[in-house]
Amino acid sequence: MRDDRIKAQHLARIAYVYVRQSTQFQAQHNLESQRRQYQLVEKAKQLGFRDIQVIDEDLGVSGAIGSERSGFKKLVAEVSLNKVGLILGLEVSRFARNNKDWYHLIDLCALFDTLIADQDGIYHPGSANDRDKLSERKPLILEQNGRQIRLSGKVDRIDLDESGQFIIIDYKTGSGTNRLTRSEIESGRSLQLPVYLESVSRRFRHRGIDASPAGAAYYFLGDPENPVRKIVIDKKNMNSVLKMVIATVFEIVESLTKGRFTHTNDPDDPRCARYCAFAKICRKDRSKLITRKNME
Ligand code: SF4
Repeated sequence: MRDDRIKAQHLARIAYVYVRQSTQFQAQHNLESQRRQYQLVEKAKQLGFRDIQVIDEDLGVSGAIGSERSGFKKLVAEVSLNKVGLILGLEVSRFARNNKDWYHLIDLCALFDTLIADQDGIYHPGSANDRDKLSERKPLILEQNGRQIRLSGKVDRIDLDESGQFIIIDYKTGSGTNRLTRSEIESGRSLQLPVYLESVSRRFRHRGIDASPAGAAYYFLGDPENPVRKIVIDKKNMNSVLKMVIATVFEIVESLTKGRFTHTNDPDDPRCARYCAFAKICRKDRSKLITRKNME
């Protein structure tokens, strides 16, 4: 498992495995993730590194209190001292608590010829192509009243026209997609496309690309002979949708962190039966019973 990017000057320095989880709860309960992170030591050995060190003092330290992330600071210091040939981690873009720290680390790695590796590959931040890949992995960070939420996803397609306007397209291959409607988006029940739109707008701005959002659409491919395009965000509803999305995401996350899990208000939503392991015990059916009882 060798990679052309790994040279003698990398192998002569230290490979650091950076192990982290953002909450004490995760650190105590998501042991599988920890195991996979510690296994990166084996990957470093297979790549030919002899001096391999693990930094795990940030386990259970939240990004919100990043100033206490002494492990990340140590990593940055070691790179700056030209001691590091390779940094390994899972989901490397989540190392830092914010964009500024992440890009600072990438810049230092480019300057001191330090490689970065994760579960998907090895990257040289000095190469424009690899740097782009590392940048693309950065999650969308939403901020409100000093709180941060990180969201990751993969946009299926972005169509950018000559006038600099772009639309986001999401492919749907399953059946039963008639529920993905404009009103679902406008009521904040379907957040995927508004979040993508916000994320891509920021990414273009960050890269200095003069592009503005013009909307978002689904392509339904259930019948390959007759693909259907449905525009669900356009210039008419875009401002209100984008204004609502951040507030809604924060409301949902706050509710979940307080242990409030709200079930659907449509007990017959077919997605419950299709995708959810809890469908048989969900309180949504109780609400159905109560409604029926009240009607009798
Ligand atoms: S069945 Fe599952 S997806 Fe549907 S409301 Fe209940 S918990 Fe949510």
